[in-house]
Amino acid sequence: MLRDTLMNIKLITTQKALSPTQITLADYCLNPYRGCEFGCLYCYSMENKNIKNINPFREIGVKINIDEILRRQLKFINPKRVLLGSTTECFQYVETKYHLTEKILKTLNEFKVPYTILTKSNLIKNYLSLIAENAKNKIYFTLNSAPISLLERKTPAQEQRLEAIAQIIKRNIGLRIHVGPFIPHISILKDLLEILPSGVKEVDIELYHHRMGNYEEILKIIAKTLGKETERKISSVYATEAAYLEFSQQLKNDLVVLKNSYPDISFFCLVPGFNMFYNKKIDYNNKVK
Ligand code: SF4
Repeated sequence: MLRDTLMNIKLITTQKALSPTQITLADYCLNPYRGCEFGCLYCYSMENKNIKNINPFREIGVKINIDEILRRQLKFINPKRVLLGSTTECFQYVETKYHLTEKILKTLNEFKVPYTILTKSNLIKNYLSLIAENAKNKIYFTLNSAPISLLERKTPAQEQRLEAIAQIIKRNIGLRIHVGPFIPHISILKDLLEILPSGVKEVDIELYHHRMGNYEEILKIIAKTLGKETERKISSVYATEAAYLEFSQQLKNDLVVLKNSYPDISFFCLVPGFNMFYNKKIDYNNKVK
């Protein structure tokens, strides 16, 4: 695994560990780090007001007191569920030194608060015993088809992610494979489904949201690497709301057909509103029927 020696690690203190969230996966979210070493170009978190003013791929804020603050908050707040990693990767490389996520998991377990984890890191495999302590816990593990790796800088390789997923299944921990962002005309769902370890029961597909996630930059990279024609096709999907809705309907139709080949998997189609910010009102239970 590559580590960036130029990464600036800053120890910071935080006033708040738990924050109310509009993401419908939980009522509170928690992010032990600010910024993310993985540096995905499509990252929506970079629009977050707490991150916008730093270079999130060069500077990682380590919220050194977060566990102590969490313990304090849990005396007054009783979350139904906590979402871990809404604006950062909880299992990025810096975690191997500071173990903030580990402390957080232990505390949430102690207070019997269930959590949902968003991750694309194979380092999560070192934490599965902790996560398995509460049967309500769930992991949303991101996998993307090969062309998307053009837009990822230092994420763990596909094989490493698949190995971690296999271990999650073995431990019987709640799991959903998250295919996101699904970028029109370059994401190839069929290839991805073929390499999934057996035992995966849920897969969601989230259509890329062009109002966040570095759209112009991504188009430039795609034009350079995959050609102008591919770039043109993608931008035509996002040119008007009608074109976007037409594409999302086609995606849903394709999923209806595809699911027949995978009867053991439930598929969920996540389509952000054309003019809406990503995290509002996405229905994660929008099952393909
Ligand atoms: S791993 Fe997640 S938080 Fe980190 S850069 Fe990629 S999308 Fe953003």
